[in-house]
This record gives sequence, C-alpha cells and structure tokens, in this order.
Amino acid sequence: MFPEFTLRYARLPERFYTPFDPVPVKAPKLVAFNRPLAESLGFDLAAFDEALDEGQAAEAFAGNAVPEGAEPLAQAYAGHQFGHFNPRLGDGRAVLLGEVTDREGRLRDIQLKGAGCTPFSRGADGRAPLGPVLREYLVSEAMHTLGIPTTRALAAVTTGERVFRRVPEPGAVLTRVASSHLRVGTFQYFSARGDEEAVRILADLAIERHYPDLAALPPETRYLALAEAVLARQARLVAGWMGLGFIHGVMNTDNTSVAGETIDYGPCAFMEAYDPEQVFSSIDEGGRYAYRNQPWIAQWNLARFAETLIPLIDDDSDRAVERATALIKAYPDRYEAEWLAVMREKLGLEQAEEGDRELVETFLEALQAGRADFTLSFRTLADAVESGAGEGEGEAALLGLFESREAIEAWLTRWRERLAREAADPAAIATRLRSVNPLYIPRNHKVEEALAAAAEGDFAPFEALREVLARPFEAQPGREAYAMPAPATEAVFRTFC
Ligand code: AMP
Ligand code: MG
Ligand code: MG
Repeated sequence: MFPEFTLRYARLPERFYTPFDPVPVKAPKLVAFNRPLAESLGFDLAAFDEALDEGQAAEAFAGNAVPEGAEPLAQAYAGHQFGHFNPRLGDGRAVLLGEVTDREGRLRDIQLKGAGCTPFSRGADGRAPLGPVLREYLVSEAMHTLGIPTTRALAAVTTGERVFRRVPEPGAVLTRVASSHLRVGTFQYFSARGDEEAVRILADLAIERHYPDLAALPPETRYLALAEAVLARQARLVAGWMGLGFIHGVMNTDNTSVAGETIDYGPCAFMEAYDPEQVFSSIDEGGRYAYRNQPWIAQWNLARFAETLIPLIDDDSDRAVERATALIKAYPDRYEAEWLAVMREKLGLEQAEEGDRELVETFLEALQAGRADFTLSFRTLADAVESGAGEGEGEAALLGLFESREAIEAWLTRWRERLAREAADPAAIATRLRSVNPLYIPRNHKVEEALAAAAEGDFAPFEALREVLARPFEAQPGREAYAMPAPATEAVFRTFC
C-alpha cells in the first residue's frame, strides 16, 4: 500500500534523531483519508482499499504496524518558544516514517503525529487529541487549496484511547506530509552545541531537498545564498497568510520550516472582522504572534536561522556577521514587495502604480473602521466591480458588510478611478478577483462545530466542511452559511492547542 521509502534522514549520523517505533494504540479506526494526495504520493490505492477492508490501513496510520521499508525515528531540534530558547525540544509525539518520492519526483516526509512518548516528550503524553488533529487536517488542506505552501494531511485515525487536556478527548493520530521537517530549530539544536559539522550537513540537506540550484555555488557563497533563499520563501509565505487573514498563532523557531511551508497548526485561526491586533491563541498572552506582527516575527526567526549559518558563511566571523546582517536588514523591502503583490491582486490590479500601497492601506483602514469581515469584503469587491458605482446591487452588498460606511464609500470612488486605468474590462476584473479572493475559508466556528460533532462520533459536519473547502473560490449553492462570519453567540475569541 505505501510507496517505497527513501531513508534519507535515517541515514544521517545518529545524533540527528533517535530511532523510535510508534507506540501502538488500542483500537485504531481510520476517520479521514486524502485519496488525491495518496495518489500523488504514489500509494497503491487498490492495495489501500483491500487493506481498508481488513483494518490494516488503520493499523498502519496509527503506527501499530510499521510499513515495510520504513525506519521510524524522532527528530532532534531546539527552538525559541515565545522568544525563549530551549536547546532541546525534538519530536515529542511525532515519528518520521521516512520519505517517499511523489509523482513529480519530489521527496516527501511521511510523519505520524500523536504516535506516543519519545525521548523528547519532556513529561508530556506523546499523544494528540482528535480535535487538534482534525483542525490541522481541515486547515492545512484548505491552505493548500488556497495556494499557500503548507504541510498536508494524508490520514487521521482515532485510537480508541482517551487523551486528557482541559477535558478528556478521544485520541487520534495525524499522518502529515511535508516537503521536509527541517526547521529553523533543527539548525539551532546543533548550532547551540557548537556542532558546525552537523549544521553543514543540515544546510546541504536543505539545499538538496529545497534549493537544488544552490548546490552548484562555491562554498564561499552557497550558505549565505541558502539564508537568502529561505528568507525569500518565508517572506512570500507570510505575505500569503496576511492576504488571507490567517494567524498562525505559534510562530516559534521550531515551527518555522526551512522549506517555506506553513507547519504546526496549533491554535491557528482566520480573522473575521478586520483587526490588525487580532490574537486568538490562549497561550499568546502578550500578543507576540498577533496578525500584524507576523511579518516581523518571521524576520526575527530568519535572523536566528542566519546566526546558525555564521561559521559557514565566511571564515572571517566578523565578515560573516556583516553579510548575514545585511541580508536580514533587506527583509522588510523583500516582504513589503511580496505583500504588495498579494494585495494588488486582491484589489484587482494587474498593473503597478505609485499610489497602490496607499490604496491598499486605505482599504484596510476602512475595513477596520467599519468592523467589516476581511474575507467577505475582498470577495465582494468582484460584485461591486460588476454592478458599477452607485445604486448597483454589488456595491450595496459590499457596503452592507460595513458597520460605518464613510471610509469605504470614499475609498470606493478612488478604487474605481484606479481600476479605470487597468487594461481589463469590469467583467474580466471581477473574474480575476474571484480567483484570488476566496468565498470560503475555514471559519473558526464552523471548524469548532465539526470538531465537537466528531468528538461525539459524528463526522458528517467534518466531511461537509472538507467538501466546501475543496472549492473555496466557487460559489456553492445551498452552502451560503459556510461563507458567513460567526453569529455573535458563536464567535470564537480563543483557540487552544
Ligand atoms: P508545538 O507547540 O506543537 O510546536 O510543540 C512544541 C514542542 O512540544 C515539540 O517538541 C513537541 O514535540 C512537544 N509536544 C507538544 N505536545 C506534546 C505532547 N502531547 N507530548 C509530547 N510532546 C509534545
Ligand atoms: Mg540510522
Ligand atoms: Mg511544533
């Protein structure tokens, strides 16, 4: 059923991980499976269907049966958590089975999350509750469909065991697929130990897997180029999050992927009424990871990454620091350019003009002043374009999202003037707008509703939400409720990991 495993990470020296077999669970049951993803990874689906009938698929995705050719291990890593360095985190509940080569020839990690206590568990239980597993499943797949680089969800099983958090919950295991699980924290683990050789091995592995073009560079320029390449991907990634109103919630360096993917969906959430200060995570008391801070936290994390590479960047350490510092200082311009590109698209602008940045900012200010829903406001711009200025239904729909309209009305006039200078006609602009501004996102209350039902054994709301989110840019008749912000009584203010 599983494709052939490549044991790239398992062949690294032993100090990179601990060999570790998943701890079997009592009564595994497969509750979600991502067929298209499995197919793209080269799974034998006929064999899977047979294994499903005999319960073997659940056994495999629970970790009760280690697939042939896999050599499970727990990866070592460190990380800054909320700004504080912890030299030893590691996979406390995750197990890497190995890598497989997908249909496009790319290596993909297959990891079981919630697979039991490892030597990195630090007193925690090594398990995952069903709720967070299904949240990661829904949100990571939604992010992928929305065009954001991310880890993926291949399968979810329930374990037949209870996990104790705030309340007892059914236990679960998520099968996660990633371009790799190389984190900034992986580099920090070795850097903090002064293990320069290990950092070089990791850097070369990152280049091999994610930035193969850099392999041709001479060593004197290769590692600064790696830092720059990782910076470019992070800048683009966070710009993508900002364009969707996505708040990651735990942007620690151990949750920062060197491949530039969104990883570790904990208390993440999508903003509804626009508020740049928005924080959802119950553990983020100081608002460190608030929406508006995300680009700058990414920069901070990138600085931590570049620090680990200092010995590789230049033999002269002063010069290495100087070169790395210049790179990190160039991040704001890099990020701003990515962000502006995202936002231009979201406003239907194909051409670039001097005043665009201010036009975007004024729109966001109008959203904030009107307490308007972020996702629907962008989405409804298409209707406003189609209906034209003034009495049109589309413009009325847009204005209807705002509690106070003064700012948005003034902005609409400016935006229409700006659109008039675009080459495309209104119909083409509207189509373009609908292809970048989703109608459906994983609304927090809808996600919570699906998780609550699943905890009671009813997976229908989870399946329904999964189906809606598979086509986020397309209006789906009869599913209007999925597009709406939470009614006041159901609004989600706090999320938990
Ligand atoms: P996270 O906040 O999910 O990024 O995890 C931070 C660290 O805590 C990582 O080293 C995890 O492996 C570890 N961890 C989180 N939850 C658990 C758990 N239930 N059991 C063991 N380790 C955990
Ligand atoms: Mg080995
Ligand atoms: Mg993590």
